[in-house]
Amino acid sequence: MIYLDNNATTPLDPAVAEKMSQFSKEHFGNPSSLYPIGRKVKDIITEAREVIAKALGAVRTEIIFTASGTESDNFAIRGILDALPEKNEIITSAIEHPAVMNTAGYLEEKGMKVTYVPVDQYGTVDVDFLKKAITSQTALISIMLANNELGTIQPIEKISKIAKERGVLVHTDAVQAFGKIDVNVNKLGVDLLSVSAHKIYGPKGVGALYIRKGTDILPLIYGGHQEREMRAGTENTIGIVGFGEAVRIITEKKDKDKKRIAKLAEQLKQGIKEKIPKVKFNGHEIKRIKGTLNFSFYGLEAEAILLALATKEIYVSTGSACSEGAEEVSHVLEAIGLRPEVARSSIRMSLGRFNTEEDVKTVLEELPEIVRKLREISALDIEED
Ligand code: PLP
Repeated sequence: MIYLDNNATTPLDPAVAEKMSQFSKEHFGNPSSLYPIGRKVKDIITEAREVIAKALGAVRTEIIFTASGTESDNFAIRGILDALPEKNEIITSAIEHPAVMNTAGYLEEKGMKVTYVPVDQYGTVDVDFLKKAITSQTALISIMLANNELGTIQPIEKISKIAKERGVLVHTDAVQAFGKIDVNVNKLGVDLLSVSAHKIYGPKGVGALYIRKGTDILPLIYGGHQEREMRAGTENTIGIVGFGEAVRIITEKKDKDKKRIAKLAEQLKQGIKEKIPKVKFNGHEIKRIKGTLNFSFYGLEAEAILLALATKEIYVSTGSACSEGAEEVSHVLEAIGLRPEVARSSIRMSLGRFNTEEDVKTVLEELPEIVRKLREISALDIEED
């Protein structure tokens, strides 16, 4: 199997699986219990929190565990708006993940004003537009750090500076950036930042929200005293342990992984450009998560390519995993100005820690032939832009 869909999810690192397995055999206590088996689990969670906080340049008390990147995004946006009832506007971008996009949509239905900042052809947000969109009613700016479909990295530092001058809080969805580029909450200047374990070789169903100390925010989930009363519910202890271990490993391996993945992705990118006619590379050439490649194959339906590759046990994506199967065109590809039929011909390949040179070689053998054969039978317009 050649897995090129690491932006959808990553395989669990064997060392993470081992750590979780060991933990689950030895500890079952409730971290809220006051006797030793509970206290021990609380200490283990604290260790994981410490590792994650350190990796983000934060302090432990600024990290709240959640059930996913999606929950972290919801919590950040809704929690801030709940705490600032006198304000009724948020600013986000046209290319956010559905976790932010659909939260914004819900808020719009409730009467909030949401401004969607457009992006250029590479998927970079228009900072001047954003600056002009800020009003005295703006509570929050939520812009992702790296886009899941294109990998394009956003100028969050610049956005934070602008926001600070206007007294507006900034949230960034760093789910795709964490572990792949330097993510430091102080360098970025953000007030809130979302991460998720399953994108960094950790388990599914656990995420975290960084909340800068002193930020006024209300909980999304009410109940017991867990997570400093900011996110009630007995902790996903085994998930948190896995998350901590996954972050420990990315911290250790980051530079090595980053270089290797970038090199493999570049080989794949160049190989596709050389071997396949009429392709278009989507995303920013430089300011991009290097392991994310998005190509349009003129004249084809992406699903046909995906299915043909799957018969060779090569797994790619036609967009974000969450919109897979949806009929409509990717809002991200639409936002960068692709014609609908070009957007529908686009494939995302996202590389990760476990990909090899052999994987790239095999894809470069199989893909050109698949595209050639599909084009022979395709009735679609093959015209390039
Ligand atoms: N934000 C981005 C940018 C993502 O890519 C994803 C997952 O695809 C999420 C949020 C959602 O994370 P989770 O799957 O943990 O809910």
